[in-house]
Amino acid sequence: MSPRNGRRTGAHRAHSLARHLKTKRRRRDLDEIHGDLRPENAARLLRQEPDPDLPGCAQFYCLHCARYFVDLTSMKEHFRSKVHKKRLKQLREAPYTQEEAERAAGMGSYIPPKKVEVQTQPLEEVVEMEASS
Ligand SMILES: [Zn+2]
Repeated sequence: MSPRNGRRTGAHRAHSLARHLKTKRRRRDLDEIHGDLRPENAARLLRQEPDPDLPGCAQFYCLHCARYFVDLTSMKEHFRSKVHKKRLKQLREAPYTQEEAERAAGMGSYIPPKKVEVQTQPLEEVVEMEASS
């Protein structure tokens, strides 16, 4: 970054900027989340070993936002929230997957990318258990 209009506010500003960048929570990239949404990865993420260092012991995880929640209620609230819906939209609009890149590179027949239907992860474990018992 080059200094704009040569104005320097000294070490304090530089320091706090560095600090800001360092402490700013790094979000998972959308393509990483697309990887997480693959069934084999999703299953692993949704069935994590209880980890006392994570919110809710890692038992309530939103795949799409790569966030942990303290309990099911918070997670459900999150699913209804703007941030989550915005994220689903972003994931649907993500340009391509690795598979499409491979197809485009001539591996096999090219199938044009179809719009990915991204839905809030089903809370099926809970729902189905209640329904079938
Ligand atoms: Zn979410």
